Amino acid sequence: MRITEKAHAELDKILQRGDLAIDATLGNGYDTQFLAQKVGTSGHVFAFDIQKESIEQSTRFLGENKLENRVTFYLSCHSKIKQNLPIELAGKIKTVTFNLGYLPGGDKKIITKPDTTLSALKQAHLCLSDNGIISLISYRGHEGGRCEFEEIEKLIKQEHWPVQKTPGSEAPDSPVLFIIGKAYRGADGSTSNS
Ligand code: SAM
Repeated sequence: MRITEKAHAELDKILQRGDLAIDATLGNGYDTQFLAQKVGTSGHVFAFDIQKESIEQSTRFLGENKLENRVTFYLSCHSKIKQNLPIELAGKIKTVTFNLGYLPGGDKKIITKPDTTLSALKQAHLCLSDNGIISLISYRGHEGGRCEFEEIEKLIKQEHWPVQKTPGSEAPDSPVLFIIGKAYRGADGSTSNS
């Protein structure tokens, strides 16, 4: 199973019709397509990318699949989730997906960067509903990828976020899927954020 399929399998366990979701790295729109299908006509997906090419290609692709009405596109860095997302939706997002790195078939020099990725991750975590999750795929094989991966690991540890980590294979450079939960729950129902 490819790592993107593993991510979708995890999302499939929790996403329901009517849910709200964010795709923090729209790319060619495949993750957004998956999310839009899962949330149905009563749900919504908010999708971010810094490349016009990604927004144009995905708008076309989702249009062909009759899903464009379920998606709001932002030509914006994901570190601006807070500025872009309607304020009343904070705390109501079921899932935020990150598929880091570069646009397949696009300019390989335009990649996600640790500073903005970490900022986006913190904002994404604040947006989540109590039972929400972040799905994040980090690539260790390209230049800058390992450093970004290590920074993400550091942040998760520092924030005490519950996490499930699945490498794509045993190869040291394989991509890694992180499934990050909202907060630890103690036996008394208390959380690490409370
Ligand atoms: N989810 C995509 C799909 O289903 O096709 C694949 C995403 S691709 C691996 C990574 C994307 O992240 C690229 O399209 C790139 O332009 C975008 N990206 C890079 N830096 C970004 C940033 N700071 N904010 C939002 N998107 C960014």
